[in-house]
Amino acid sequence: MKNSISNPYGWLQKSLGTIHRANWYRQVKTVNSLPGAVIELEGRKLINFASNDYLGLAGDSRLITAATKGIEEYGTGSTGSRLLSGHRELHRNLEKAIADWKQTEDALVFSSGYLANLGTISALVGQKDLILSDRYNHSSLKNGAKLSGATVIEYLHCDMADLRQKLATYRSHYRRCLIVTDSVFSMDGDICPLPELLSIAETFNCMTLVDEAHATGVLGDTGAGCVEYFHCSNYPLIQIGTLSKALGSLGGYVAGSNDLIDFLRNRAATWIYTTGLSPGDTAAAMAAIEVIRNEPERIRQLWHNINYLKQELPSESLLPSESSIICVGLDSPETALNKSDKLQQAGIFAPAIRPPTVPTSRIRLSVMATHEKEHLKQLVEAFF
Ligand SMILES: *Cc1c(COP(=O)(O)O)cnc(C)c1O
Repeated sequence: MKNSISNPYGWLQKSLGTIHRANWYRQVKTVNSLPGAVIELEGRKLINFASNDYLGLAGDSRLITAATKGIEEYGTGSTGSRLLSGHRELHRNLEKAIADWKQTEDALVFSSGYLANLGTISALVGQKDLILSDRYNHSSLKNGAKLSGATVIEYLHCDMADLRQKLATYRSHYRRCLIVTDSVFSMDGDICPLPELLSIAETFNCMTLVDEAHATGVLGDTGAGCVEYFHCSNYPLIQIGTLSKALGSLGGYVAGSNDLIDFLRNRAATWIYTTGLSPGDTAAAMAAIEVIRNEPERIRQLWHNINYLKQELPSESLLPSESSIICVGLDSPETALNKSDKLQQAGIFAPAIRPPTVPTSRIRLSVMATHEKEHLKQLVEAFF
């Protein structure tokens, strides 16, 4: 009986058809150069406004040298989970450097930011517990919440009155409570009102987890993130982030108290049952933190570029942003796609972000410290 009805995979083609018809089909584009402010995309040189490499470190020779040295010394793989044969001094040094930068007692590195969120959230709360989650949170926070088995309630985006009201209604029915939020929201570029959120967390006896993925290397005097920017480093907080955006490498981290980190080493399944971060990635991230801390002018240049663009782009369509992510709102998915195509014809790579990823269509621009004045001018010209 080998007809199409009994084919257990037949639904895949049908489902792909639906994705195509809805215009939601997506595919990869090949970059054929070192990462940077200018890249070669599908054979064309373009000014790059689509990279998370905010400080231009992913192609920096010092990171490349550090990664190479790490590989020569320790090999390409770490060969096991950290608790078995996969732990190296490199890992511990990186964790100490992250803790020192974030002003926390300790830190733990994961194989990706996504895994750090899944593992941390699902270790901290369970079926008897409550998660309050900003509705614009990153996929990894939402899926971590789901995986934990806790009751998840979403509050309106950055709306502290809504958060407070929901806690007043539901908090007492649950054992532990965890508030989770992006610090810089990845598809908008605005930031969470952290001081107010922390005061609400204190009132309702909640733990707080902030995802600093797009804030690390961007916000705060030393680039430590939104927590530093708001001078909240002495609050009891769980700080998560990635090594793969401004740090130009691969991997994720959690920073917080000794107890938190010790607990995660014993309970976070996405850390315990996976291979330790590779020596090359670990060494590159370590070098990135050194560069960022020794060369504060990189962050200053990034903010110079951000402020220039915010001044020169059509102000009436700029969405609120306090980061290196700047979004220009457009009426419809079609206008956004057309705009992105036009920009590409003018030599600029800037993606259109549309529903269902976000509620309203936009061009999303990622600013880099290594964009030159000429790159920014070309973007502004192409926009009008
Ligand atoms: C990119 C991102 C992550 C995932 O980090 P990876 O290291 O790429 O897995 C998590 N949270 C937010 C908010 C992000 O933007």
